[in-house]
Amino acid sequence: MAKIQAIRGMNDILPDQSPVWQFVEDTVRKVLGQYGYQEIRMPIVEQTDLFKRSIGEVTDIVEKEMYTFEDRNGDSLTLRPEGTAGCVRAAEEHGLLFNQTRRLWYTGPMFRHERPQKGRYRQFHQIGVECFGMTGPDIDAELLVLTARLWKALGLAGHTRLEINSLGTSDARKVYREALVAYLEQYKEDLDEDSKRRLGTNPLRILDSKVPETRKILEGAPSFDDYLDDDSREHFEQLKSLLDAAGVEYTVNPALVRGLDYYGKTVFEWVTDSLGAQGTVCAGGRYDGLVEQLGGKPTPAVGFAMGLERLILLLETLDLIPAHVTSDADVYVTAMGDSAIPAAMALAENLRDTLPGLTIVSHCGGGSFKSQMKKADKSGARYALILGENEVASGTAALKPLRADEPQQDIAQAELASALARAFNL
Ligand code: ATP
Ligand code: MG
Repeated sequence: MAKIQAIRGMNDILPDQSPVWQFVEDTVRKVLGQYGYQEIRMPIVEQTDLFKRSIGEVTDIVEKEMYTFEDRNGDSLTLRPEGTAGCVRAAEEHGLLFNQTRRLWYTGPMFRHERPQKGRYRQFHQIGVECFGMTGPDIDAELLVLTARLWKALGLAGHTRLEINSLGTSDARKVYREALVAYLEQYKEDLDEDSKRRLGTNPLRILDSKVPETRKILEGAPSFDDYLDDDSREHFEQLKSLLDAAGVEYTVNPALVRGLDYYGKTVFEWVTDSLGAQGTVCAGGRYDGLVEQLGGKPTPAVGFAMGLERLILLLETLDLIPAHVTSDADVYVTAMGDSAIPAAMALAENLRDTLPGLTIVSHCGGGSFKSQMKKADKSGARYALILGENEVASGTAALKPLRADEPQQDIAQAELASALARAFNL
């Protein structure tokens, strides 16, 4: 019988890879904690209408990419394609937004029926951050300063660059949209198929087309900058000054539009040149209208989401994963002989009590000395701790360095913890 396989575009994260995921997740969690962000956890499934009303009926996500199904009651449900809508829904439902400010974050799987390729999957993972009740641009700047700190913590500073733009108010966008459509209509026959379709549905997205013929036509298109309202222009200028003052570098990209309808004013992307076409690792912006659009009181809001698969791919591509992250053990404890097994167990427990920061893996399942040492080596541990009948009798253990060309030492069991603490700089 044919074996059942995972669904296309949905990946297993195997034991070899999960330490890298934990490293990235832990680093993000720490940085967010430094700024006082609080975690929120939402369901993976929401009512389909939530996404239609927030992301927009004529966006790629809602038109083509959602996993939508009827549940047994006949309700239309959707696997979340992103986190902002659910976060707003949850925060509003539980009264977290009225008359207060919030800095929230979440992480988890998102689902989009896209063509799977490197850096693009059908189940992928995001860490999302959403801030409510603050008009900015100070909070917009904080989000960018925070992400810059994160890149530093992950060793990615210099490998990502920041692009920013302002999309203005919805009124300004409306006037611009008409001007853009009027211009593009003249060249309709020469536009690519996607852009032709978007002309009637989501013309701003044409600005971000990668098709050379379309790009050529866009060169003569009206520029949004001429349509930007004064308030948004002032907001954008202040944001730039704050970034300058904080030493965060950026470029203004007037073609940066984002694929979701709810954005206005500030939008941004952190991009890398090391991942080919799937180069956006973090993207977001301001969405002051969304809470009201979903039935709440008008509430200013700004946020971003980063794609964990792409971040991890980037760390792997640039060979930036610290060695300690991927090793399975710091110390590997071997035991030869009947009396050595309980003694080794007790010794390992004792070391876990005294040195909780170390990963101490005990050999289980017996086998020859040689095969135990092979496992010790394969674990990536820096030391093997060797206990045989002789060591048990003399109350010692042999500490063998596995990564350095140094001699094995016999150490009194009572001294082991301090010897290891020294060796690992604890
Ligand atoms: P793209 O332009 O790459 O399609 P997007 O604008 O659709 O991205 P967002 O909805 O803003 O992306 O999601 C934020 C981040 O989530 C992206 O910058 C990316 O890192 C990641 N992401 C989005 N879609 C996928 C996917 N299908 N697979 C893996 N990561 C994704
Ligand atoms: Mg997309």
